[in-house]
Amino acid sequence: MNDQNKTTPSNFIRTKIMEDLAAGKNDGRVITRFPPEPNGYLHIGHAKSICLNFGIADEFGGKYNLRFDDTNPEKEDVEYVDAIKEDIRWLGYDWGEREFYASNYFEKLFGFAVILIEQGKAYVDSLSAGDIRSHRGTLTEPGKDSPYRNRSVKENLDLFNRMRAGEFEDGAHVLRARIDMAHPNLIMRDPTLYRIRKVVHHRTGDAWCIYPMYDFTHCLSDALEGITHSLCSLEFENNRPLYDWVLDEAKAPCHPQQIEFARLKLTYTILSKRKLIQLVEQGHVTAWDDPRMPTISGLRRRGYTPAAIRNFCERIGVAKRDSIVDVGLLEFAVREDLNRRAPRMLGVLRPLRLVIDNYPEDQVDELDAVNNPEDETMGTRKLPFSKVLYIEKDDFLEDPPKKYFRLAPGREVRLRYAYYVTCTDVVKDEQTGEIMEVHCTYDPATRGGSSPDGRKVKGTIHWVSASHAFETDVRLYDRLFMQPDPDEKTEGKNFIDNLNPDSIETLSGCKLEPNLALLAPGDFCQFERMGYFCADAKDSRPGKPVFNRTVTLRDSWAKIDKARK
Ligand code: ATP
Ligand code: MG
Repeated sequence: MNDQNKTTPSNFIRTKIMEDLAAGKNDGRVITRFPPEPNGYLHIGHAKSICLNFGIADEFGGKYNLRFDDTNPEKEDVEYVDAIKEDIRWLGYDWGEREFYASNYFEKLFGFAVILIEQGKAYVDSLSAGDIRSHRGTLTEPGKDSPYRNRSVKENLDLFNRMRAGEFEDGAHVLRARIDMAHPNLIMRDPTLYRIRKVVHHRTGDAWCIYPMYDFTHCLSDALEGITHSLCSLEFENNRPLYDWVLDEAKAPCHPQQIEFARLKLTYTILSKRKLIQLVEQGHVTAWDDPRMPTISGLRRRGYTPAAIRNFCERIGVAKRDSIVDVGLLEFAVREDLNRRAPRMLGVLRPLRLVIDNYPEDQVDELDAVNNPEDETMGTRKLPFSKVLYIEKDDFLEDPPKKYFRLAPGREVRLRYAYYVTCTDVVKDEQTGEIMEVHCTYDPATRGGSSPDGRKVKGTIHWVSASHAFETDVRLYDRLFMQPDPDEKTEGKNFIDNLNPDSIETLSGCKLEPNLALLAPGDFCQFERMGYFCADAKDSRPGKPVFNRTVTLRDSWAKIDKARK
């Protein structure tokens, strides 16, 4: 997927691949993969990895694989497999036939394990999980050999085959690499390669009751697919010696190069599937695709575009060191894309009636409105205008402060694309004093929004004709977490305690211009002055879209954060 006109900043991964190509490594091939575990939905961090892996393969005329790393049957599910594929396709990547599953390699992986056993490089250990842990040692102390470490090859082969045949219960034995229990890198202290789990797998059913561990599966799956550059996040740096060890000792068909890069971290955002699952299961959000979620499906439902996400990933780049990206940068990316492409519309979120006393009772004016000032080709549309309108409650103040340029008693303002109006009167609820209605007069000579006598007004406000308005719900979102680092530990609290109780506000009875009734689920637009919105993909009905605010027009948070300091 190539975005035009992008300026691609270089990075250490690109440099490394160019060096390999120049040196004639891998016969000039570049093959990468994205290896999700189907135990949750993809999030924006995964998008970074997808854009990197798939983007870089594209850039060098290479190939990329989608491989499900499905070796943990208890936590995995086809629901996740399907959602992951949908999300990657939506992001704009097509892996064609190159869809793979680690579970398809179970037989081959078993064969590699047998090779290790035959070389004396793996053994069946019968210590309990707890004993294995206590034998491991610490950073400062070497580990202790298991009493089973010196079993003969014959005995190991026999036990491993019987593990596979289902003769033993979960936890009775494991297969371990035979490396070095005093190795300074704890990961190299005879890591577990296989464990017994008598559970049904979503793809292989009950064909297997032993399952390979990540460190064993991952490198060999890479090798079986002829991956040249295995890009993974930084937390696997310590696993690289094991990655290389397994490939060498199991006599893998080729030796992919593991290269680590920093995971994406975002302010005000949680990017851990385990925690995201918790938000869903405990009902803090409605589902994985709740528009407040940092999942790809949540961002999609919120109104984010694939181009915005890809541009964001391009802009943050890849580095070797962890850093935290301001979530404002993601919001900037979607604003930038929608600014170019979103049709402008008028929508009143918190309506206040405005009556134009000198406007004829049954007259309807059809006014021309510009669809997108950034793009002339998007043309114009007609807006019905009549005697009774709705304006935003906030756009009228009875007793305005100095710098308030919107409507107030005696004030003249421009109604967008329409006329100048002057406020003449206010109607209030006798009991509560609440403002129910404002009365104005209009100047027919200002049709289209400018005055022939050159008279200027300072404020322009949006409006919707009351009898033509389309009424629906609009949902405004705020950050899901209140802290820049939601994981920040404050005494006995965790990220759940940092949830923002006001992360969603549902407004009903919003009055929108009638053209908005035609939007299909997923369509986006800008409500002038109010932000970018999209028709919700789940809750909209034909002829009655419900809207989600994707993002405000400007970064209002930046201002608030500044004011707080
Ligand atoms: P999580 O911590 O959210 O559960 P994970 O690493 O366990 O993520 P996987 O399905 O194993 O999830 O991830 C697939 C790929 O995506 C891995 O190569 C992983 O390195 C990468 N990845 C996951 N999270 C991020 C992130 N925040 N930034 C960049 N890459 C990520
Ligand atoms: Mg993982």
